[in-house]
This record gives sequence, structure tokens and C-alpha cells, in this order.
Amino acid sequence: MTQVQTTNVAGLDTVCLTKDELADVMVKDCLFSRANKIAPKVVFSSNGQGISLNATDKSFANIMSQADMIHADGQSVVFASKLFTKKPLPDRIATTDFFHNAARKAQESGLTFFMLGASEEESKLACEKMRIKYPTLKIIGRRNGYFTKDQNQEIIDEINALKPDVLWVALGKPKQEFWCIEMRDKLDVGWIKTCGGLYAFLAGTAPRAPMWMQNLSLEWLFRVAKAPKRLGWRYMTTNPHALWLMITRSK
Ligand code: UDP
Repeated sequence: MTQVQTTNVAGLDTVCLTKDELADVMVKDCLFSRANKIAPKVVFSSNGQGISLNATDKSFANIMSQADMIHADGQSVVFASKLFTKKPLPDRIATTDFFHNAARKAQESGLTFFMLGASEEESKLACEKMRIKYPTLKIIGRRNGYFTKDQNQEIIDEINALKPDVLWVALGKPKQEFWCIEMRDKLDVGWIKTCGGLYAFLAGTAPRAPMWMQNLSLEWLFRVAKAPKRLGWRYMTTNPHALWLMITRSK
């Protein structure tokens, strides 16, 4: 398995990689995992909400500490690494962008994807669109993210029957992180990657913030403007706290 350098931003060890480098690690790990029966690697991401939760919720912090890798989903995490650590991160790895680096590398190397999460319509549309965009990408299965605990075993069986290399999990933070750690030892996959609101972007039901907002670390503001009821409180409470943690807890 590949070992990668990390830098600590606001309490989370965050990988010092670019998007393409992380996609290369994904390919190496998955090919290694196919040849050697080992537990899947769990890959999470770090943003303001996650940083804040990690400091306030012990059970979430415990789950985050069990990830094999955490990457910088938010631009602010990269800014903080430049200002407050000795080892700045080389790149922002927004999951929404990373999916495409991963898809291209998966096409080249023959890795397979299973897409779990989001509503039935969004899941279906996201997969349809990605099958058109990446004609030789093997999306071998998908399932919506609305299920009960009693259905977990059925979902595990469905995934294990297909043995995908990468399982993408979009159940929203923190539910998806808890689910991934609880299920990792039961899953016959190479990588488990959380992906939050990714499918809405892939399906085209949610527009992406303009590049200037992404570069200024304001993508969250664009998302709040689009869905103030759902996201307003989340970001208004977690962003100032995350900023404080970036200043005081990065090293
Ligand atoms: N979701 C799901 N099952 C649930 C709760 C949420 O599949 O029980 C999906 C939801 O439909 C959405 C994603 O999880 O597609 C979470 O999106 P959100 O924008 O909250 O994620 P973020 O990227 O902000 O973490």
C-alpha cells in the first residue's frame, strides 16, 4: 500500500498530494488490493464543517482518526496550510473535481466503480451522465442512499457480489463517515471514498460555483445562496469555528 506525506491542518492529517497524484494512489492501492486480500482503504475529505465537527464531537473525531487518508476538499484548508504549517499542501482536492481525475485513471487502468448514495433520480442521472462522458469507465453498480439499518447487509451483499475497486459513498457528513468505518471490514472493495453532494454536480442538478469564488474559498457561500435553508445554518456555525481551529491547531 502506498504511504503518503501529510500535513496537519486544524487537527486533521491531510495528504500532501495533487488530484492526479491521489488518483494514481487510488489505482495502485486498488490493484494491490485485488492481488492481496486486505481491508479496503477509507479516504475522507476535510472542509470547514468536518474540521469543526472533528473538534466538537468525540465520536466523529474517533471515526476521522480511522481514515487511511484525508484530503483537502476546501480551498480554505489549503490557504491554512500555507499560512500556518511548515509543509503547505500542493493542491486543493475538491471531491467534485477529483472524481474526474479518478474516472480518467480508472478508464486507463480498468478499475471499476460502484456509486452509493443520493436520491434515486440523482443517482440514476449522475451515472447515466458519467457513462456518456467516460464511455469506457466501468460503473458496475449504483444504489440510492435512502435505506434503513436493516438493509445494510443487503447493500453489502449487492456490492460484494460485484467487487468494485472503488466504492463512492454519498450520504452527507457525518453519516457517510460513520457508515464507511462501520462497514469497511465487511466490504470486498479496494477503496471507499466519501463524496457528499457529488452526485448533484455530476447529474447537473446543482451548478458549480464560478472559478473566482472557488479560488477565494467562497464555494460554500455559493452553495448557501442556492440552498439557504438546508446549508445556511451549517456553514454560518461551522466556518468561524473552523477558521479559529485552522489558526490555533495547525502545525
Ligand atoms: N443523502 C443520502 N442519504 C441520506 C442523507 C443524504 O443519500 O440518508 C445524500 C443526499 O441526497 C445528498 C448527499 O447525501 O446527495 C449529501 O449532500 P450534501 O450537500 O449534504 O453533502 P456535502 O457535500 O455538503 O457533504
